[in-house]
Amino acid sequence: MDNFMDNQNNENNESNSNSAFQPASFSTQPQEAAQPAPAPSPFQPQPSAGNAFQPQPQAQAFVPKGAARPSGKNPPFTPQEIASFKHKAEGPIYATMVIINILIVVVAVVCSILAFFDIGPLTGQSGEFINKYVLGIEAEASANAEILVILIFLPIVLIAAVYFYYAQYRANAIRITEKNFPEIYEVVQEYAYRLGMKKVPNVYLAQENGVLNAFSTFILRRQYVVLLADLFEVAYLEHHDLESIKFIIGHEMSHIRLRHATFSYQISIMFANYIPILSTALSRAREYSCDRVAQHLVGVSGVEPMLALIVGKHLYKKVDVEDYVKHCHEVRGFFVFIYNLMASHPIMPKRIQALLKDHGSGRLFF
Ligand SMILES: [Zn+2]
Repeated sequence: MDNFMDNQNNENNESNSNSAFQPASFSTQPQEAAQPAPAPSPFQPQPSAGNAFQPQPQAQAFVPKGAARPSGKNPPFTPQEIASFKHKAEGPIYATMVIINILIVVVAVVCSILAFFDIGPLTGQSGEFINKYVLGIEAEASANAEILVILIFLPIVLIAAVYFYYAQYRANAIRITEKNFPEIYEVVQEYAYRLGMKKVPNVYLAQENGVLNAFSTFILRRQYVVLLADLFEVAYLEHHDLESIKFIIGHEMSHIRLRHATFSYQISIMFANYIPILSTALSRAREYSCDRVAQHLVGVSGVEPMLALIVGKHLYKKVDVEDYVKHCHEVRGFFVFIYNLMASHPIMPKRIQALLKDHGSGRLFF
């Protein structure tokens, strides 16, 4: 599952959304793009006239070259364009992890076969070691039945788990359709077209007790996106901030387009994912890649959704972006480095600084 943030935050804490918001749209007035299409939904955004604290106008945010034009139909990206949006370290780290993963699988299979047949040096203590640390069972090397059962049933259990997970959202969420949030449905259709996706992913809206997040994930051959309703409802109803919602959707759909949220990708690095520094570095590179694709999809910097993750869904529109960025360099030092090193998502100062620069490769480590 590729979500927007690594930490699950509640509304009093930090938030997990994958979207980037354009600081230029600091307005409480409904924007043209945020006007919902005529729909029977009773939840039409209303101008937030009761808000005593009008946000300050911000400087025009950075928008990458070649990003979406605000009006008119944008053509699909070419595969070369999409490749150019990716973080430059993503491919090499992924390739390294795939190789490590293959090595782990080969070693595990060979050891398991040797242990299964009680062959050579892998019987006795070494066999026990394989059982315990490779196969995860407390047994002697000759516990052949357990080894066989695990090898056969592990894939079945994994597949069942992803379908069970999907069932939760089908059971407890609303799918965005032509009738339910039609303007969001249009965005999903448009982005699927521009990303050259063969199937338009289902997008679900669900609430999870104030958690601010969004994520894309998969069942065997299909991907879907879940937007958690908390940030969505405030961005939609209070701020009329369709651009932030679009950025979040764009980011999540990019995880699908770049194949991060696919069964084959996850399987290809399944065991290597347990290697701490490498796996988190790859994850951070993926986030930078998807932020960059989303910028080009939406045509905004993507900073505002990040601010929502820091200060929450109500306050993000009040943050002075220039001032925040001016102080980003103060967030440094050994422990900040370690924290970033272990985080699945780039720390916010790095992520926001990357969003404000015209290149796809944010700082992974320093
Ligand atoms: Zn993400």
